[in-house]
Amino acid sequence: MRIVLLGPPGSGKGTQAVRLSEHYRVQHVSTGDILRDEVARQTELGKQAKSFMDQGELVPDQLVVDMVAARLKDSFVLDGFPRSLPQAESLDLLLKEKNLPLTAVFNLDVPEEEIVRRLTKRLVCLACKAVFPSGTQGACAKCGGKLGKRGDDKPETIRERLRVYRQKTKPLEDYYHHRQGLLRQIPGMGAPDEIFKLLTQQLDSAKSKN
Ligand code: ADP
Ligand code: ZN
Repeated sequence: MRIVLLGPPGSGKGTQAVRLSEHYRVQHVSTGDILRDEVARQTELGKQAKSFMDQGELVPDQLVVDMVAARLKDSFVLDGFPRSLPQAESLDLLLKEKNLPLTAVFNLDVPEEEIVRRLTKRLVCLACKAVFPSGTQGACAKCGGKLGKRGDDKPETIRERLRVYRQKTKPLEDYYHHRQGLLRQIPGMGAPDEIFKLLTQQLDSAKSKN
């Protein structure tokens, strides 16, 4: 199973990626999580990535592509990658070399007003990075860690992330639709459980056709 999740920031990619990776027992690759970890550990990559992330810009393609290539296993859910055409082309090349075609690409479709609402309000666990809706009280339900705001979830940065999304990432819908016929649109407004059900239904029927 090799899955790509596309969608704007705050569309629920991270939540669904965790569930899918547990359900199908495949690797979960979140480039956002990996990059935040590199920044926290002050690695060379983290130092290079930090200012881009703080401003809501994309980290340069080559850095992210190398980072993914070094980790990618044979079965995976990609969350937050690819995010630009050059990244998608690099991924294609990598998978072609290994003769491992993608199973499906899902686009979680959520209107922009809703995105802004979600991102300005969401809370994250500062320890395990789990995401919680606004108004959640107390500690993280998963690990007991403290809840707080993500540094890049402030209004100016959210606007910039959305601009970058429209300009660089949105075109990937066409890329996967036209070049590979792999794209499936998923309405991202429903409850997480409903969206998860839609995703697994589609994946299970894709599997039984192969
Ligand atoms: P979002 O909620 O915006 O989807 P992510 O956690 O996926 O957040 O990413 C946070 C930041 O990490 C991005 O704004 C960007 O700076 C950087 N980043 C994550 N994935 C990529 C990628 N594939 N290419 C370039 N930059 C990335
Ligand atoms: Zn936690």
